[in-house]
Amino acid sequence: MKVETKILHSGYEAKNGEPRVLPIAQSTTFEYNSTEYVGDLFDLKVPGFFYTRLANPTTAAVEKRIAQLEGGVGALCTSSGQAASFIAILNLAHSGDHILSSSNIYGGTYNLFAHTLKKMGIEVTFVDQDLPLAELKKHLRDNTKVVFAETLANPQLSVLDFEKFSTLAHDHEVPLIVDNTFPTPYFCNPLKLGADIVTHSTTKYLDGHAVAVGGCIVDGGSFNWDNGKFPQISEPDPSYHGLSYTKAFGKQAYITKALAQLMRDLGCTPSPQNSFYLNLGMDTLHLRMDRHYENALKVATWLEQHDKIETVNYPGLPSNAYYDLQQKYLPKGCSGVLSITLKGDREDAARLLDNLKLIKMEVHVADSATCALHPASATHRQLSDEELEAANIPANLVRISVGLENADDIIADLEQALAHVGA
Ligand SMILES: *Cc1c(COP(=O)(O)O)cnc(C)c1O
Repeated sequence: MKVETKILHSGYEAKNGEPRVLPIAQSTTFEYNSTEYVGDLFDLKVPGFFYTRLANPTTAAVEKRIAQLEGGVGALCTSSGQAASFIAILNLAHSGDHILSSSNIYGGTYNLFAHTLKKMGIEVTFVDQDLPLAELKKHLRDNTKVVFAETLANPQLSVLDFEKFSTLAHDHEVPLIVDNTFPTPYFCNPLKLGADIVTHSTTKYLDGHAVAVGGCIVDGGSFNWDNGKFPQISEPDPSYHGLSYTKAFGKQAYITKALAQLMRDLGCTPSPQNSFYLNLGMDTLHLRMDRHYENALKVATWLEQHDKIETVNYPGLPSNAYYDLQQKYLPKGCSGVLSITLKGDREDAARLLDNLKLIKMEVHVADSATCALHPASATHRQLSDEELEAANIPANLVRISVGLENADDIIADLEQALAHVGA
């Protein structure tokens, strides 16, 4: 099947006389007619549902759908993207371990890595992902367990060099985890490009309508966990009556451990209602992503020739530093998110935002409607102009998440608001 068809037909399948649309299994619990069956469930010998913290029919259908779209062997949905990043890492790294991460990552992931993981004894080194392979390799250590990066970084919009990063991880016999939130599996399948594990904030384009926070981890099933570096996966788990995940679950060892151990203990499960919204949103993923891209490219091209605009950062523009990598790894498109800097200062950027009429001011991206944010007035307001410059988020930067309207109306709104800048 082609991807558009797969988007609509993967995951839930109705049997004779069952609802056509994925039902919401709003039940914490399930009924059984034999103790033997319940025993097999708890021994993970048969698939099934024993408690919604661990598995639920609505959530399971969404997991299957995302796993199929990414080309993985299994997936685990979580209550947020943050929870997905946390579980994805904690499944592999313990106190005393080390992680190598690109510095171009989502702010929430950065805080998780730099502060919370550090308090837990996991050290993270942040690297410039555009350094040559030999330079990157110098940051690997004996106790490095994971290499982490984003396909299309939020908010830098850098495109990951998959070939370089998968070589970096695999030469060291550790997995590459890639956050694929911005492109979604419609524009990119990291597992086919050398990643071993994929994470998502489904809150963004997968949901696509700004209604449900959620996350997902997808297991590529191809990494060899038996290489001596991951005894927590290959050796008996005392918290699961001596089970070895690789022996018992083969290719699905990683994702089964994430569920049976970490979801069991941490409990960051999505609600069945949110899984329903996510599933519904995904029905139109391909149509939405094509339009987000088409509109963003039009808006970016228009902004680039405007005399009050200093720079436009959008990897789909031929002038962009990541254009070649975009053409190589994201040839179908690269999300609706772009950023601009104005010929002006912090006040000019604020004035642009305050004069927008159609475009909404939101601390979000990937909404179906176009939205914009001035980080210096919002998410980064504690920082001085100098600190903002150092963080690569200058005071005159505005982030725009281009939505699904007619592009002419988005451009008209920007045009009238730009008239107030520097006036
Ligand atoms: C939003 C986001 C996250 C965090 O996801 P939440 O659903 O907000 O917890 C992680 N990674 C990226 C790239 C994001 O954009």
